[in-house]
Amino acid sequence: MKVDLVPLREGVPVMGGGNRLLAALPPADLALLSPHLQKVSLEQDAVVVRSGDRREHVYFPHSGAISFMLDMPNGETIATAVIGREGALGALSVLGPSRSSVTAVVRVGGTASQISVSRFHAAYMGSSAIRDVVQAHTGWILLQLQHVAACNGLHPVEARLARWLLELHDRTEGPIMSVTQETLSQLLGVRRTTVTLMVAKLRAVGAIRSDRRGLIEIDRARLEEATCECYRIMRRETDRIVPDEAVTPRMHFPSAADLAVDDRFE
Ligand SMILES: [Zn+2]
Repeated sequence: MKVDLVPLREGVPVMGGGNRLLAALPPADLALLSPHLQKVSLEQDAVVVRSGDRREHVYFPHSGAISFMLDMPNGETIATAVIGREGALGALSVLGPSRSSVTAVVRVGGTASQISVSRFHAAYMGSSAIRDVVQAHTGWILLQLQHVAACNGLHPVEARLARWLLELHDRTEGPIMSVTQETLSQLLGVRRTTVTLMVAKLRAVGAIRSDRRGLIEIDRARLEEATCECYRIMRRETDRIVPDEAVTPRMHFPSAADLAVDDRFE
């Protein structure tokens, strides 16, 4: 995999409705960022940042999906979170650590606005609205990390595979997704042979209609039946904490109580 972030040509429209965090900012606060935002293309499988690398940019996806991967010393990987246009990559750099703790990989191609960490930090210091957005985003990421940990420990691989397919499909246009079994193996932290078995199980119940040459066609309703409750809980929490401006023009700032989604996960 290679880093392949290319500037978009002038005039290329941003697909997917725009980044929800940027959309939540009042015009005067957004104006602190706008002159420094550069639109880039997120190519599928591109590594945006590697674990241990110095953070250079903050990314606000407008479309597509980026997974946060934890790399273990023996070469195994597992996904700890996924972000799309409701989140940002690198925004937590304002909280201190200058090196990334995760490897971020583009799973669904799309576009993003990028800004240098230093420019973002300057705007963050000068705007309470930007600080509020970073706080809401931090709460959302913490919720996700907590929830993925619970899901990994409590729920079967088949349900987790269905959850990942739904997470990726939410950020894909159309029923056919470009995702290989190798990618699913990395996201789930299981062997390829396990993924093959689980894909076969989901095919048997009609949740996956076909899978060939790295393309998976899903039946969304059946996939939602096959997944665990984690998918619906996280989707509801995402919409509550980082609402889609087109639907609900209001941002919720999480309190400590919000971080306990469900008693079972405390
Ligand atoms: Zn689960």
